[in-house]
Amino acid sequence: GLQAAREYVDTVFETVKKRNPHESEFHQAVKEIFDSLVPIFAKQPKYMEHGILERIVEPERVISFRVPWVDDQGKVQVNRGFRVQFNSAIGPYKGGLRFHPSVNASIIKFLGFEQIFKNSLTGQPIGGGKGGSDFDPKGKSDGEVMRFTQSFMTELCKHIGPDVDVPAGDIGVGAREIGFMFGQYKKIRGGFEAGVLTGKGLGYGGSLARTEATGYGTVYFVQEMLQDNGLSFDGKTVVVSGSGNVSIYAIEKAHQLGAKVVACSDSNGYVYDKNGINLDTVKRLKEVEKKRISEYVKEHPDAQYVEGCGGIWSIPCDIALPCATQNEIDEASAQTLVKNGVKAIGEGANMPSTLEAIDVFLNNGVLFGPAKAANAGGVAVSALEMSQNSMRLSWTFEEVDAKLHDIMKNIYRNSIKAADEYGHPGNLVVGANIAGFVKVADAMIAQGVI
Ligand code: GLU
Repeated sequence: GLQAAREYVDTVFETVKKRNPHESEFHQAVKEIFDSLVPIFAKQPKYMEHGILERIVEPERVISFRVPWVDDQGKVQVNRGFRVQFNSAIGPYKGGLRFHPSVNASIIKFLGFEQIFKNSLTGQPIGGGKGGSDFDPKGKSDGEVMRFTQSFMTELCKHIGPDVDVPAGDIGVGAREIGFMFGQYKKIRGGFEAGVLTGKGLGYGGSLARTEATGYGTVYFVQEMLQDNGLSFDGKTVVVSGSGNVSIYAIEKAHQLGAKVVACSDSNGYVYDKNGINLDTVKRLKEVEKKRISEYVKEHPDAQYVEGCGGIWSIPCDIALPCATQNEIDEASAQTLVKNGVKAIGEGANMPSTLEAIDVFLNNGVLFGPAKAANAGGVAVSALEMSQNSMRLSWTFEEVDAKLHDIMKNIYRNSIKAADEYGHPGNLVVGANIAGFVKVADAMIAQGVI
């Protein structure tokens, strides 16, 4: 029954905390999923009997390595590299690489753990993994980024492959970094294995619509959520945090659907433009000139720039799309959003809301699209990139975009269905976690105790 399930979950969670001390982000991700899974263990004791939770929280393999490189002054620098190969029950490990000074074992493990369930939700045959480094590409020259990424790949290449583990981008890792890593992998291997990385350039095995996929996917997901509740993006006021790859294409799609996005941000502060954010300016500033978002107001004097990031959630809006980073919406920010009448949240970033913030949204009837469902479009199109690489062909933008749209609709439908079936109607946190879990857990049972 429910009580035995609760006890099982709590016992395993205590072990997780004991075995992984000081890893607060990892604990947070595990806690959210564990709480969601109680109703399924109550109904399906087989998952407890097969020790699925005890196994699923332990990565299949954790790789941690030294990344030495020489900076432009000729000085030796050392960063730390990680790859966590979390779960391969339904396919090769798949997940991005994050280059950011905040990267540590806890961050990579939370991201890798989430990736297991997210990747399962896409319906594509991909397992869960994540990696990265505490290297900060900000302010580095192209030469420094190249030497660092080559050194990173010199070690990583021993552990990856098109049928083993397929990395991609995340914060701080875009087309430039993937290009350098692909070059280094190819040089060491001595063969063109296109499917070893995704997010590649279009000229050497990349997929059309991969760049847009995460942001577009988040908006497609929220569109389903709104539609199911008699609402739409048309005429709505939207706040999108961040101004990276996810944010830019979330803004683009929201605008296409008739919404007005009035704010976006970077790690220094946010801009508010009551006329609607001019996306051409943001794209040029961030993608081409690599400048701070504060420069936006020089070209749009009607807009305001405010130092610091948390304040973006005090801007009244109908729909909020957190697309920057983990824990960017805390309990107080969530309460402010609710007080100002927010109707829907779509998480474009990974774990952008704290557990307390999620409770505030759910308890106040806000439609809430959790990250592992709402931002799964990126990795879903990565899987489509792998398919195209295997077939040695490339689909048109329209074909890939249509498949992405279908995938996001299916994720929404499957999550809502699971939420209903397990007694939490409308709760997409529970629904997405259960729907993602079942496929992985069944595969683990079928494959024996490994
Ligand atoms: N970093 C993205 C994510 O968080 C994409 C990963 C991928 O394409 O493998 O899902």
